[in-house]
Amino acid sequence: MALRDLVTFAQEHISRQELIADHRLGPPRLPHLERSAENGLHMERDNGPTGERPPYPDWLREPAGDVIRVDGLGNLEIDDEAITSVMVAEILGGGLPDLYKSTCADALAYYLPYHFYRDGVWGIYLRALGVAYWASAIKGELVGPGDSILVQAAEHVLFNHEAYHCQVEAAATRAEIVAGRAVYRPYFYDSRAIPHEEALANAQAYRRLARAFSSHAGPLRKWMSKQGIGYSDFHKYVNAREFSKGQQKCGRHILRHVSPSRLLPTQTPADFLFGRVSVKAIPTFVVVEKAIARYVLRPFPKHNGVVVKAHARDHPPPHIHIEMPPGTQITKYIWDEPLRPVPGQRELSSREEKRLANYLDRFGIAIHEDVCKKYPQHTMQMPAFLKQSGVLRTR
Ligand SMILES: [Zn+2]
Repeated sequence: MALRDLVTFAQEHISRQELIADHRLGPPRLPHLERSAENGLHMERDNGPTGERPPYPDWLREPAGDVIRVDGLGNLEIDDEAITSVMVAEILGGGLPDLYKSTCADALAYYLPYHFYRDGVWGIYLRALGVAYWASAIKGELVGPGDSILVQAAEHVLFNHEAYHCQVEAAATRAEIVAGRAVYRPYFYDSRAIPHEEALANAQAYRRLARAFSSHAGPLRKWMSKQGIGYSDFHKYVNAREFSKGQQKCGRHILRHVSPSRLLPTQTPADFLFGRVSVKAIPTFVVVEKAIARYVLRPFPKHNGVVVKAHARDHPPPHIHIEMPPGTQITKYIWDEPLRPVPGQRELSSREEKRLANYLDRFGIAIHEDVCKKYPQHTMQMPAFLKQSGVLRTR
């Protein structure tokens, strides 16, 4: 079952019209009634930790920069001429980020569930500064030009942690389809379930990083082991067998809310709730603080085998770099009406042009803003092809 179908079911039949339309608002508070109902639940007899959801971060409550939709992984890279001293001065207050300070993934990224938030708002939010922070901490000094691989590893860790929160929500939705009642909402506030979910989210991030970027697994393990309640238990679930057992337990936490008054056998194999979720289908956003956007890190969203970039301190006229596939620059185009190659650069074939048009439909306005920022001495009108397409800024 596709994630999209689960989302539609949850929003139309479970949450109905209560969806939040603004990412600056945190998830709803636990109603008093549900708090008392929780006390009546039959708890699995274990001495696992209890805890609450991580606090709603200020960088989402009051974002000091742009919120850009990217989707999937591999959208962030370091500008070739990144001035990392600016990052030190403006953002990190002159110090090297301390990897082993007790910062968890959910302070650097956050997941907004579709049971609470509308389409266009729910999804994974990555803080660009958080990504740069983590990458710097792994490197042992501030990241700079040439460190895009570290940025990718950082993005990988934070994304896969948050993606697990979505996978759990999808599992709860499957239970809702069968039960015909709200399960995720009471589960979301279940103080037994929360630390366990965080441990598994970290375990998933660790397992996936160890496969894709094995040389960074050591620092990651160290970082995670210094984190708070739940998070630091990831090490119990890093091998496949233990992870599956951990997921069964997570499933039982969910099933407890299907029929709260009934006693659930402690060994119910409940990981069947965790069907495949295509992580690519999870809407993903990057919150880019202004200083970091200008000097260090840019999201260049990849879509359908196309990436368009505008570089800082590039020569005039204002132009874009077109990569098809990502990583292979095929030409540069002047950012003006009509779009045309920079003199000496090759023209796109009609097929390539179609793909570019499709890309610009989605990201055109964000690119226009980016080009404007990178060529502050030029006043640029929005090209007519963007006005016509009627696309809105992805926020
Ligand atoms: Zn988390």
